[in-house]
Amino acid sequence: MKNQNKMSLTKRVLVGMGLGILVGFVIRSLFADVAFVQDYIVNGVFYVGGKVFIATLKMLVVPLIFVSLVCGTSSLKDLSTLGRLGGKTLSFYMLTTAIAITLAILMANLFEPGVGVDLAQATSFSTKDAPSLGDVIINMFPTNPISSMAEGNILQIIIFSILFGIAISVSGPEGERIASLFYDFNKVIMKLVVMLMNIAPYGVFFLMAKLFSDIGLEAIFNLINYFLVLSATLLLHALVTYSLFFKALTGLNPITFFKKMETAITFAFSTASSNATIPVTLETATKRLGVNNKVASFTVPLGATINMDGTAIMQGVATVFIAQAFNIHLSLSDYGAVILTATLASVGTAGVPGVGLIMLAMVLNQVGLPVEGIAMILGVDRLLDMIRTAVNITGDSVITCIVAKSEGEMDIDVFNDPSAGASEESVQLGTTKK
Ligand code: ASP
Repeated sequence: MKNQNKMSLTKRVLVGMGLGILVGFVIRSLFADVAFVQDYIVNGVFYVGGKVFIATLKMLVVPLIFVSLVCGTSSLKDLSTLGRLGGKTLSFYMLTTAIAITLAILMANLFEPGVGVDLAQATSFSTKDAPSLGDVIINMFPTNPISSMAEGNILQIIIFSILFGIAISVSGPEGERIASLFYDFNKVIMKLVVMLMNIAPYGVFFLMAKLFSDIGLEAIFNLINYFLVLSATLLLHALVTYSLFFKALTGLNPITFFKKMETAITFAFSTASSNATIPVTLETATKRLGVNNKVASFTVPLGATINMDGTAIMQGVATVFIAQAFNIHLSLSDYGAVILTATLASVGTAGVPGVGLIMLAMVLNQVGLPVEGIAMILGVDRLLDMIRTAVNITGDSVITCIVAKSEGEMDIDVFNDPSAGASEESVQLGTTKK
């Protein structure tokens, strides 16, 4: 029964997505000019439904990160654990991103998607200047934690929550009382996550139906080589690099991992936002993959903010594509600069739709390529954004498992249990279940 429930949520989300895509296509091909359908259905029901769904997810992000991270850090035995955890997580995040972008450059050079591309579409594209590294570091530290929360600045919330959690852990009995309050809050917020996940099939349907009735897939045909090389590299990294890392460093079965990630991947794909997916990624990591909240509450929000392998891959392929299209030769040292800058640019990319493309300007500037090139790929970016966001959160979860396993903070029985976390997913409103 419980297992059935779990299957039904994952399945229902997938069905919602499939139906949404189908309905979107049908509307675009048959009712594109029908004002009633456009005004009331596409820009009415679908638009409002999708926005409400994203809002409910985003609504959870700030309280969830704060509460779960305070719980996580307040239960750490000593500070050296925190340092080790942070060091390992950051190193793995950087390493996988550098591998991702190297793979992207190799694939783009092998398949040359930009050779012979028509430059007519390259009009103009204006970008904001990328912040300097110094600014990035300064901006991580909150001057006012309440405004950090109000603005949803995740790095600042992470820093404040960690410090707050540490203070709790060294405050004796008073600290213990506060910690137990946070544990209760955490339980309630996780319940809220699960409650809202139950409306996901509808939310995903609205998002997909609106998107696919709006976007013209003709743009993809013009840039089919770019689209295919980029998607293939994203898939290769997700399936091969991650599976190898996962198997080698945890000894666990990557297929089980991917199966358990289905729901989170679908959320990431349909929202194109790692940030909005944080509640689902965290729920998946703790309830289904068996990672202790101590680790996941830190690695998941951090990963959603700074670890963007999919985005780095897009930036690598796009850079080579633009160089090929403009017939500009990139030297070996240019490629080195691309790897370094794209790693940093993906760190600086916020986990919201479309930002990766804006940060691409930083990489292009670094190697002297025309920023207008971004205009060429703009038309196909929405769909690719969805795929790369799914890769981004998969990468976060792989590293979460690796770090947790190495720290002895992963429950292997939960990981291997196909129904783990399923009972949590069915929330009976109106009953008080223990
Ligand atoms: N949409 C991506 C994410 O949220 C970021 C990007 O590449 O634009 O992870």
